[in-house]
Amino acid sequence: MIKPRKEIESIIPYQPGKPISDVQREFGLTTIYKLASNENPFGTSEKVKEAIKDYVDGGVNIYPDGNATTLRETLAAFTGRDFNEIIASSGADEMIELIARAYLNPGDEVVTSQWTFSRYTDASTIMGAKLHLVPTKEYAIDLGGLLEKINERTRLVWVCNPNNPTGSMIAEKDLLAFFDRIPKDTLIVYDEAYREYVTDPAYPQNSQNFIDTYPNVIVMRTLSKIYGLAGLRCGFCIAQPDIIENINRVRPPFNVNVLAQTAGVVALEDQDFVAKVKANNTEQMAWIYEQLHAMNLKTYPSQANFILFETDKSSSEVFNEMQKRGVIVRPMPGKLIRVSIGLPEENQAFIEQLKSVL
Ligand SMILES: *Cc1c(COP(=O)(O)O)cnc(C)c1O
Repeated sequence: MIKPRKEIESIIPYQPGKPISDVQREFGLTTIYKLASNENPFGTSEKVKEAIKDYVDGGVNIYPDGNATTLRETLAAFTGRDFNEIIASSGADEMIELIARAYLNPGDEVVTSQWTFSRYTDASTIMGAKLHLVPTKEYAIDLGGLLEKINERTRLVWVCNPNNPTGSMIAEKDLLAFFDRIPKDTLIVYDEAYREYVTDPAYPQNSQNFIDTYPNVIVMRTLSKIYGLAGLRCGFCIAQPDIIENINRVRPPFNVNVLAQTAGVVALEDQDFVAKVKANNTEQMAWIYEQLHAMNLKTYPSQANFILFETDKSSSEVFNEMQKRGVIVRPMPGKLIRVSIGLPEENQAFIEQLKSVL
C-alpha cells in the first residue's frame, strides 16, 4: 500500500448528516424530517430558483468567472467593504481549507475550542499544525481558556460565533477584549455561519469592520444557512487585501461554480426571504425550548438555528430510535443531541417522536 502523508493518518472522514434517501430506504418510510444539518427549512428563495433556471437555460459549458467578480461586487456593496477585501469560496468549508493551506506550516501552533466546528481541527491537522483544544465552559467557548494557550508561537486561532454545535454566543465586548490580547501576527479566523439567526443585541452587528482595527482578523460567512444555498456551495470572507491575496494564491482557479455565483448575487438581494426564515426560527426555537423543558431535559442556550440538549439515554440510541420514527437528528458525544430548527410541523414531529423514544 502506498503511504499517504503522515499528517492525514489520524483524520477521520467528515460524517455528514444522514441523507434522507438512505433513511427512507433503510426503514421503508416515506415522510422523513431531517433536522440534522442546520439546513434551511424553507428551501431556497423563489427568486434564486428562477435565476438558476435561467442560467441553466443558457448552458453551463463556459467556465465560471474565476474572480467571481459580480458576486464579490455584490458582497462588497452588501457589507460596505472594498472589492479587494472580499474573496469567495465553494462554501465556508473550502475557505477553512484555503486559509489553513495559505498560513499553516508544519509544527505551527493553532488554538481553538474543543467543542466547535470540526473542520477547523481537520484543516489544521492536514497542514501538520500542532493543535491546542480548549475545553468549553457549560458548552460555551471559554475565551479566557483560549488566551491561556495563545502565545508568540500561535499562528492561528479559530473562533465560531454563534458556535456550532453548541449554539453559544460571544458578546461583542468580550470578543473585542479577546482580540485586544492576541498578538498582532497571530491570525484570527472569526466564523459567523449563523450570524443572521442571532437575536441577542450584544452580538457584534458590524463585524465586517473588525478588520480596520484588527488587521489580523478574517471574518468568514456563508450563504449555506439562512440564505438556503447549502447544496450549491457559496461562502466568503472579509479580510485585509494582503490576506485575500495570500488566500488567492492557493485557491483553485474556478472554485465557485457558475450556479453558486449566480445564486449568491440574487440570494443577497432577497432579504424578505431571510426575514421570513429568521422569524420562523426565533418563534419555533422558543417553542422547542419550552417543550424540551417541559420534558425536564437539560438544554443549552442557542443563538443559531439549532439546539443542543441532553437526555438520559446515549445519543446513538436516541439517534437510532428517532431515525426509525422518521426524524433525523445529530448525535453528539455522550448523551447530547443537536437538533436543527425546522418548520412548525417538523418540530412538532420531532417533539412527538422524542417523547415516544424517551
Ligand atoms: C455550516 C458551517 C460552515 C460551512 O458552511 P458551508 O456550507 O461550507 O459554507 C462553516 N462554519 C460553521 C460553523 C458551520 O456550521
